[in-house]
Amino acid sequence: MMRSLSLFAMTVVVASMPCLALDTLAYTIRIQAPGTGRAEVSVVIPTHGARAVDLVMPIWSPGYYAVQNYAKDVESLGATSSGRRLEVEHPVANHWRILTNGAEKVELTYRLICQTRFVSTNWIGPDLAVLTGPATFLKVAQGGPFTYEVRIELPQGWKNSATGMEDAPDHAPGHFTAPDYDTLLDCPIVAGNFPSHAFRVAGTRNELVDIGNTGSWNGAVESRNLARIVEENRCLWGVLPYRKYVFINVFGPGAGGLEHATSSMLSSMPPASGSNQGFRWYSYVSHEFFHGYNVKRLRPVELGPFDYERPPRTAGLWVAEGITTYYGPIMAVRAGLGTPADFLNELSGCIRSLQNSPGRHKQTLEDSSLNVWDEGGSGVGGDPARGISYYIKGPVVAFVLDARIRTATRGKRSLDDLMRLAYRRFSGAKGFTEGQFRATAGEVAGCDLDSWFHRHLASTEEIDYSEALTCFGLRFAPSKDSAKPTWKLEPDPAASEIQKANLSDLLRARAEADAR
Ligand SMILES: [Zn+2]
Repeated sequence: MMRSLSLFAMTVVVASMPCLALDTLAYTIRIQAPGTGRAEVSVVIPTHGARAVDLVMPIWSPGYYAVQNYAKDVESLGATSSGRRLEVEHPVANHWRILTNGAEKVELTYRLICQTRFVSTNWIGPDLAVLTGPATFLKVAQGGPFTYEVRIELPQGWKNSATGMEDAPDHAPGHFTAPDYDTLLDCPIVAGNFPSHAFRVAGTRNELVDIGNTGSWNGAVESRNLARIVEENRCLWGVLPYRKYVFINVFGPGAGGLEHATSSMLSSMPPASGSNQGFRWYSYVSHEFFHGYNVKRLRPVELGPFDYERPPRTAGLWVAEGITTYYGPIMAVRAGLGTPADFLNELSGCIRSLQNSPGRHKQTLEDSSLNVWDEGGSGVGGDPARGISYYIKGPVVAFVLDARIRTATRGKRSLDDLMRLAYRRFSGAKGFTEGQFRATAGEVAGCDLDSWFHRHLASTEEIDYSEALTCFGLRFAPSKDSAKPTWKLEPDPAASEIQKANLSDLLRARAEADAR
């Protein structure tokens, strides 16, 4: 991890005491008066004789590529030692420095304003709390590495809390552990009163927690449907890379989802009628779960380990988000939660958005990823007149790449094989460079894909859909106005058996029927 400049360079000299054993930072989060939208946080920090302890608040959350001002929601930060108040400096908006006065340990306390309802912020309402790691936990800059404990104390009448963190050894309610700071920040915590639906898949413990006004939602049924998505992912990747996973499903206002390694934070609207959310919801949840592999463990080399003060720039969001957006609906169909027509509708939506966006002539897919942090960036919310979102062009390129691999190998290999091989090679601590990912794709396809990648990632040339349409036996629905294509994919009535077989292979269940 690279840290910012002079403040820490100076501090390391001052505080360069050796740390022979892993210290544990045990955070306590108290929600005493939820109506105030605030939480009290405390933690005891060992100093090992250092004259100062520096604290840093993150400025971004992995997975959400926009700078956040979390420090503005920290108030009343103070520190004591043996009951004596210590001096605290506040040199930069998101930096604090405790002058230890020679104390062996200091107790840090601060209050969090939790009034922003979003997947990467904190919210406390009258009956619900959603706490996200980067908005909650200050980093202790010296010493360490630390292990972490979190204890959450709930107000009267609140019974539940849930998180992707492991339970503490005492298994006490609301007591969790994390082996490192990255894990701590990657595990949002929810609390309140909510039903939880547990299910096991291949020895792993999975849980759906439904929070807020669930309307006619049937969590028991949906947890069984989620189990199918989990199982299909296990078949695709060959592994479930966790012991515990929590689908945190928060109903009510708010939008979007955010992936984590052992949980996903989902904002959902209650079903309008009946108990099912329909295909869009399955596709959305499937997208977030797929990220548990693609980006949380198989990642562009720039996306980890994280510096929470320096947002990383990567050209690889077309893999992290684009390929995940392609697979979201595919895995939902494989899980039996939608039809081929549902998948074609979603993919057609991306193609239509791409082809109707003037920005596709102005920005390459690589630049869309690299420029995401800039003002008017090209991610979600980018200006379609000036750029193109990797959420739109990314899945379309994944589609034509899948077809390229299938065509080049006469149907023997597909994008599934590329993702599996890339996962085996690059997941975990390593990460992949753009060049490594492209070379792996070429290896799977059995041919050189350099010029193919250049065209689709590094140029603004129009996408040529003909190979993909031929491969999967598809066409664009006929249009009355030849100048205005429909961009609506549909099976070609003249498709051959081989073409039909390619489409059916893309969408068929891999899991054994009796595993359901
Ligand atoms: Zn995503």
